[in-house]
Amino acid sequence: MRFSRLLVPTTKETPNDATLASHIYLIRGGFIQSVGGSGLYNFLPLGKKVLDRVREVVKDELDKAGCQEVSLSFVTPASLWQESGRFEKYGKELLRFKDRKNNDFILGPTHEEMMVNLVRQTVKSYKQLPLNLYQINLKFRDEIRPRFGLMRGREFLMKDGYSFHATTEDMQREFTLMEETYKKIFRRLGLEFRVVEADSGAIGGSGSKEFMVLADSGEDTIVVCDGCDYGANIEAAVRKEKVSEAEAPEAVFSKFHTPDTTTIEALSDFFKVDPYYLVKTVAKRALYADGKSEVVLFALRGSDELQEVKACNAVDANDLVDISEEELAEVGLVAGYMGPTVLPESVRVVFDNNLKEASSMICGANEKDYHLVGNSFKGVEADYHDLVAVQEGDLCACCGKPLRYTKGIEAGHIFQLGTQYSEPLGATFLDENGKAQPMVMGTYGIGVSRLLAAIIEQNHDDKGCIWTKESAPFDLEIIISNIKDEEQMALGEKLYASLKSQGLDVLLDDRKDRFGAKIKDYELLGVPYAVVIGKKLKDRLVEFVTRDGLEKEETSVDTILDVVRQKV
Ligand code: ATP
Ligand code: MG
Repeated sequence: MRFSRLLVPTTKETPNDATLASHIYLIRGGFIQSVGGSGLYNFLPLGKKVLDRVREVVKDELDKAGCQEVSLSFVTPASLWQESGRFEKYGKELLRFKDRKNNDFILGPTHEEMMVNLVRQTVKSYKQLPLNLYQINLKFRDEIRPRFGLMRGREFLMKDGYSFHATTEDMQREFTLMEETYKKIFRRLGLEFRVVEADSGAIGGSGSKEFMVLADSGEDTIVVCDGCDYGANIEAAVRKEKVSEAEAPEAVFSKFHTPDTTTIEALSDFFKVDPYYLVKTVAKRALYADGKSEVVLFALRGSDELQEVKACNAVDANDLVDISEEELAEVGLVAGYMGPTVLPESVRVVFDNNLKEASSMICGANEKDYHLVGNSFKGVEADYHDLVAVQEGDLCACCGKPLRYTKGIEAGHIFQLGTQYSEPLGATFLDENGKAQPMVMGTYGIGVSRLLAAIIEQNHDDKGCIWTKESAPFDLEIIISNIKDEEQMALGEKLYASLKSQGLDVLLDDRKDRFGAKIKDYELLGVPYAVVIGKKLKDRLVEFVTRDGLEKEETSVDTILDVVRQKV
């Protein structure tokens, strides 16, 4: 491709809503163009090229793993979402609209219903299973805060795949295959990533995994172990059971006057006791799917923090919200002095697993200015769940080494769905005994357009993009510093033709511009390698440039083809 013919409107100006490197460079490099500034983007020729290259890697690995590509209608009849119950439940992210006949439609934010609908009409027997169908298509989510360019757009490109099975075991086999396939995809794209356990709500266990591209700008906090492969989203992270070296406050059970000690810190000071031996009680209002709500107390050690997603899952609520002192008083709770052992009948309490069998504990007496000492939970039957937010320095449950936090960009997500959609939508098959069974499903997503942003977040410098080999818009760029110099031009053309004939995708910068401007554009666009033909051609020398690190190597004109062959 000749630069002089290419539509690449590079600019020095940083868009004013852009803070992330990927957002800035993708716009400044003329890869994408914002439409109306609200999470909608046009892909210009270079952006489209990168997108297609990424898409090709995704498709190639999925096809090798036996998945089949389809393409589903983007506009989805609302009736399918009414069947699954999501039409009402899904929030404002779902774009709903009507056609001229007043029928309800949506723009698909995800396509479980659509794919189940396709399969239920065509698959009737166990003999047709398993099946893994995917598409690489547009999604629309009316995100509350579209931002960071392609990272969180409203319209974006997703690879969404769905698998259908006769048994849970077979679905789990496919889930593992998809995990391996996703790893191949991210490796080929040259990304540093972690597969982390994600919150899988009611399913629990490792039924859900996310593929996190490691980058400081990532929106997700992930917990990783450097001693082994363990990684988890903060909402799903677990740790080795915590013990304390601090001395336990041995005491017989009694009530203690503790004026003005409404925080864990104050209580720890008052008794000179490590927070490990204090019970922290967090009150929340749990909102349930059926519209009901109630006050729930979550009890954990004073040295731990409540993880709200875990807490929410523990009571199977849709959401947990904060609660005022007045609301607490209404149900008979005393703010600052709540304890899980002395509660009004109506208040539900959930204990953290780490309190199981705990002794020498101090907790609120649910009476103003009083705490109870010498509490033991040995043999106490209660509703125990994992409620804690894993902290940096907690130990890995797999290998015992310290865990640490890092930041990641969610680029992929695989999920064991079970029969959540096949049951309500009636996607059944006849098993070997002729009995109708709901199909067992898995679902697998990759944010294809988000990957462009993720690649740049991980691979850039203060000058611009540094594309990885399999994502780059071109394999190599030839920069002719002065096109009026016939000798330079002739060599450029010769190299261009010769490298193209060898199958390389080459960009020839044959523009009239100044050399400085060309180099600036090269650095901004981030093609992995360049050959610069400049003044030294008089001495039969050209320069071979590696974009990552901007290393420059003077090379003889006679050997430049060998250098390119070797490096590119
Ligand atoms: P997030 O937590 O980032 O909002 P999600 O968990 O809602 O994402 P999924 O429903 O798992 O997203 O969608 C599959 C993939 O689609 C995600 O892993 C992500 O890479 C991508 N994706 C989701 N939302 C967006 C968006 N608004 N813009 C670009 N890509 C997105
Ligand atoms: Mg997700």
